[in-house]
Amino acid sequence: LFEVTVSPIPVPDGRRQVLLVFRDLSEARAGESMRRDFVGNVSHELKTPLTAIMGFIETLQGPARDDPKGRDRFLALMAQETARMNRLVSDLLSLSRLEGQSRKRPTDRIDMAALVSETIGMLRPGAEADAVEIRFDAPASAQVIGDRDQLVQIVSNLIENAIKYGAHPGIVSLSLLHIDREPVLRGPAWRLTVSDTGPGIPPEHVPRLTERFYRVDTGRSRTQGGTGLGLAIVKHIVNRHRGRLRIESVEGQGTEVTVILPAS
Ligand code: ADP
Repeated sequence: LFEVTVSPIPVPDGRRQVLLVFRDLSEARAGESMRRDFVGNVSHELKTPLTAIMGFIETLQGPARDDPKGRDRFLALMAQETARMNRLVSDLLSLSRLEGQSRKRPTDRIDMAALVSETIGMLRPGAEADAVEIRFDAPASAQVIGDRDQLVQIVSNLIENAIKYGAHPGIVSLSLLHIDREPVLRGPAWRLTVSDTGPGIPPEHVPRLTERFYRVDTGRSRTQGGTGLGLAIVKHIVNRHRGRLRIESVEGQGTEVTVILPAS
């Protein structure tokens, strides 16, 4: 797509000359349409819980006014929808912060073995409530250069997904292995895998999972409190750490997500 500007150039001897300027607009248009889609998606995602909350308020003002049991139920649902909006806004802020940092490399020395164990410790009570056992075979230490909060976010997003979309009862297994020479990174690396025993993901969806708001089953993601941004955030963080992300899934057997981070 080109924009063409035509300007006549005055020349003294009476001949006519024109200047043609061609401007390639395809990239600008593609960016514009992506931005429009994104704003459309965000508005839709925020409107869904807002509409539900409006409905609950109307019910509380009307039919459920004198029904204490109904009132408690609707207030609990309103709290749930509000929490989801809150998560959505936090995830959007994380993404926008990550985009701003894309050129700035992280600098902290981090022991991934300890970080993964601590994150599991935080998530274990919730997993147990969902009948999910988390297993982790930790190496003595696994040094990387990274951003602590962001690495915690990778690990917790992946474990939370494995709990949400895995089997109940089920097992979520994590491993952290050293690679002497990772072929793409051309150096030593740590490979973190998070696997579940869930129903897996149909292969046609796998390549699109890191797109913003992409979900295999929108209803399931919503009832599980998902925002559709978790894997998009993981992908951004992995890129910022010059790492690699791979998602493999076998229907009926489970899903395994691998994150490879350069060793320090
Ligand atoms: P959400 O907030 O919906 O969980 P994510 O970006 O984290 O968003 O994940 C995108 C989609 O990928 C999810 O909606 C779900 O359909 C699918 N998904 C992610 N992890 C798993 C998994 N371990 N097993 C099966 N499906 C998964």
